[in-house]
Amino acid sequence: MIYLITVYGDPVLRKITTDIDQNDEGLNVLVNDMFETMHNAEGVGLAAPQIGLLSRVFVVDLSPLGDEEPLLKDFKKAFVNPYIIEKEGDKVLMDEGCLSIPGLREDVLRFSTIRIKYFDENWKAYDEVYTGFTARVLQHEYDHLDGIMFVDYCSPLKKRLLKGKLLDITKGNVSTSYRIKLPRG
Ligand SMILES: [Zn+2]
Repeated sequence: MIYLITVYGDPVLRKITTDIDQNDEGLNVLVNDMFETMHNAEGVGLAAPQIGLLSRVFVVDLSPLGDEEPLLKDFKKAFVNPYIIEKEGDKVLMDEGCLSIPGLREDVLRFSTIRIKYFDENWKAYDEVYTGFTARVLQHEYDHLDGIMFVDYCSPLKKRLLKGKLLDITKGNVSTSYRIKLPRG
């Protein structure tokens, strides 16, 4: 099932998510739906608040980038109840986009290396270290679980410059190839 994607201005994107219960029988269906919704929107990552749910889960599929970076060829994963327990290395600047902030890209400083503990959709536990582009995507999606969006990292001046565009998104004055849920509608 393809969900509508929530956009900037929706309060659900500003809330803290809660851990998923291990007895939750809907997890596999939810993860499948999140992959389907993300693929439909041609995204590489999607977090539960982006489909209006306050559950601590995000999905990432970097396999479309496998042509340029062979290591990413099979990277398709769900991160259930993830916790980043270490961030280290230099901070790296790179531009990011977000399915919930369509049409806008800005540079964001992120740590180059993270250590993250999480479960997959079958409750297998992991404790892994990621670097580079993968670490960036994971930090971006992880932020969504804590109500943080990438534009929050922009300077006060940049934020003022973006205000009009963000307001347009909130009002639905934006074109997307996927269906969005407007904050007030
Ligand atoms: Zn995002």
